[in-house]
Parts: sequence; C-alpha cells; structure tokens
Amino acid sequence: MLEIQNLSVDYHGVHALRDVSIAVPDHGVAAVIGANGAGKSTLLRTLAGQTRQGGGSIKLDGEEIGTLRPHERLERGIVLCPEGRRLFPDMSVYDNIRIGAYRMRDARKYRQRLEFIYSIFPRIVERRRQIASSLSGGEQQMVAIARALISEPRILMLDEPTLGLAPKLILEVAKLVRTINAEGITVVMVEQNARLALKVSDYGFVLETGSLTLQGTSQELLSSQDVLSAYLGA
Ligand code: ATP
Repeated sequence: MLEIQNLSVDYHGVHALRDVSIAVPDHGVAAVIGANGAGKSTLLRTLAGQTRQGGGSIKLDGEEIGTLRPHERLERGIVLCPEGRRLFPDMSVYDNIRIGAYRMRDARKYRQRLEFIYSIFPRIVERRRQIASSLSGGEQQMVAIARALISEPRILMLDEPTLGLAPKLILEVAKLVRTINAEGITVVMVEQNARLALKVSDYGFVLETGSLTLQGTSQELLSSQDVLSAYLGA
C-alpha cells in the first residue's frame, strides 16, 4: 500500500502541492487528473524522490520512504516514466530500454524482463536496432514505458502517457495500462485526458492548484457533476 499524507511541495515559496493525501492499494490503478499546472507532475516527481518535499509523509507498506534517495526508491520498485519520454534520441531502442535495468545484476532476470517486454511490445522487437529518434511519437512512448518496465516496478508512475498521441495510439496506451496492471503492477497515472484516465483506473484523484479537491472510485468520478463539467467537457 502506498500512502501519501499531507504532502506539500514548494518551489521557492510557491505552493505546488498543499496537504495532499492519497492512498493507493497494491495492484490498483490510480489516476490523477487536473488542469495544467495543478501539480500532477510534481506529485509523481516527489514520489520518485526527484523533487524535495516540504512536508508530509510517503509510506510504502508502512515504511517511510519520503526520506530515501531516488535510487533507493527505485530499488523498492517505485519507477517513474516521465512526461515527454526523455529518451536518448541517438541511441538505439534496445540501449534506451537497457538503461532502465542499469541497477539489475541478475542476468537471468534481465532476460526474463526483456522477454516480457518484447511480448507486450512486438513492434519494439522489430525496431530494436533503430535509433530512438527515428520512431514515431507513439512508438517512443512505448519505448519509454518499456524502459520503466524492465526494472521490474512494483509501482509504475506514468506522467501523461497519451500526450500528443493519435486517437488510435491513445487506446493502445489504455490497453497497455491494463496489461501492465494484470501483471500485478500498481499503476499511478497522471493525465490531462481525464476521461481515458478514469476509464482505465480504479481510483481517481482531482488536483486543483496543488490541492486535492475530489477523490473516489473512478466510476464515481466519471458520474460526478463537478468532474463532468470541469474535466469531461459536459
Ligand atoms: P502540466 O500538465 O502543465 O505539467 P502539472 O499539473 O503536472 O501541469 P506541475 O508541472 O506539477 O503541474 O506544476 C505545478 C506548479 O509548480 C505550476 O505552477 C508550475 O509552474 C510550478 N513548477 C513546476 N515545476 C517547477 C520548478 N522546477 N520550479 C518552479 N516552479 C515549478
């Protein structure tokens, strides 16, 4: 269980997150929705240890992890697939994926993870020797997710995985989230595409200017008047 309590983050005195409390059960899919600048990316970066928290706590199975360094959180299986993919454009697809396993010492496990990844991304197998920048935006997104998956995450955090993708690929990402979750991986996704995020998730959280204003099952949020009018264009 991932438990975030009263989490606050300031950027030079400006509140990016204020007293945010979120609980995500093991094997769940949580969606965090909200407008531009609401603090969604800040939340994921803070969970990954890339942004310093101002206050509050982050616990994994009751253990405080908010004080751990990013690589120690990675070792506990907390893995971030960042917004904008951040691939190395001149390196091959395979090398980009391999980077995600840089702390893995067990060669057998590495091969197993690679097989798992190739089984869910058949197009990556075909393109593994190409340089990353030669792939389409959707394919690059898949490589970024593959790089995160190879490190054997327990909690996979996806920051705007559908941003800039064509509608057909957006549906593919949605299917992928379900496939990943079926492997027992907890998913926390941040999305501007609120409808999609709530459709693939079990729990939804709404962030507004750094504060959590609404939470519930995704079904509840999909039928909430506030969510409908503010985020679902109804
Ligand atoms: P977007 O979808 O636009 O990325 P978001 O909901 O992910 O939005 P954040 O990127 O977390 O929001 O930003 C939250 C607030 O913190 C915004 O006001 C943003 O301008 C500010 N912010 C984000 N990163 C920094 C930073 N490194 N330094 C200063 N302010 C920042």
